[in-house]
Amino acid sequence: MRITESGTIQQSWLQREYHVVLASVAMGYVQCFYIGRIGSGVLWETSENRKTRISLLLGISVLFLWMAWAFVKAVITPPGFAKDHVPQQKWPPERCPTADPSHPPIYNLHPEYRYCGLDKIIKPFRTHHCSNCQACVLKYDHHCSWIGQCVGARNHKFFVNFLQATSAFTLYYLGTILTPGMRPALANGARMSAVFAFTAAIVATAAFFSTRFLIYHTKLILLGQTTLERFQLRKFRQKQLQQNRSFSWWERRKKQKVIEDCTRKWGDIDTECNIWWLGSRRRGWEDVMGKSVWGWFLPIGQSQNDGLSYPINSRFGDDGGLKKREEWPEELR
Ligand SMILES: [Zn+2]
Ligand SMILES: [Zn+2]
Repeated sequence: MRITESGTIQQSWLQREYHVVLASVAMGYVQCFYIGRIGSGVLWETSENRKTRISLLLGISVLFLWMAWAFVKAVITPPGFAKDHVPQQKWPPERCPTADPSHPPIYNLHPEYRYCGLDKIIKPFRTHHCSNCQACVLKYDHHCSWIGQCVGARNHKFFVNFLQATSAFTLYYLGTILTPGMRPALANGARMSAVFAFTAAIVATAAFFSTRFLIYHTKLILLGQTTLERFQLRKFRQKQLQQNRSFSWWERRKKQKVIEDCTRKWGDIDTECNIWWLGSRRRGWEDVMGKSVWGWFLPIGQSQNDGLSYPINSRFGDDGGLKKREEWPEELR
């Protein structure tokens, strides 16, 4: 690692891609272990559960190929860098109009607030600067070291496909190796038992995190939010509550009542208060995962949005301030 004159941190290829290499080695290792243990005896012996073993091997190989394919796509597809699409310009852009104090501005959409001094561009909506990638990323979700780059507008879909495939692979893996009928084949001998336990622990850890992330990302996509925007909405809800007062843990009912009042006044926190809410979960899903059902699971096709422009929820004003329910267009109230 070295620090350049401009103060940015430069890392070597291995430092940057360390997790990618580690993930690839782990995937290769667990697959080889499975083939080695379940597959031994299939080709040159006539074991009694030969047919079961062959179908298990076929199953794991198909899931492995799905996972490896999605992983490669997520690693090699750039998230979309704003500077490749937006012209550079000098500070300052036009002055910001004073926001209406009666409306809580939860997003600042004005160009002045979207200027990135490092990239010298006005960021498109939902774009954020990543300090790891040292660039503004379109529809920034988060920086993921396991794929060695950001998850953004152009690779979010492949990232989710990778989570789906990893969850399926690891759950199938655990489900089959923990079946009593398979255990003798996998762990005969004390040394083998230790290796077996080690491998099962790796797969179980991967299963736990990939399914958790998959559930989380699926929920966010349906709601039309990124990980970062999720935090912003939580903060906004916190602010709404603090305007009343802080609640102790035994005041759950009172707190619930205030949340209901806020929802009545400002809208549902996850959908109506989300400036990028597209009106339905189906539209949110298709916006990221595309229209083809095959593409919802396989790393093919692309997202519907290009990461450069997003329609604004009509419950918001032009300055990015949320309007009260009574000020919404009549059909939305
Ligand atoms: Zn930037
Ligand atoms: Zn990044």
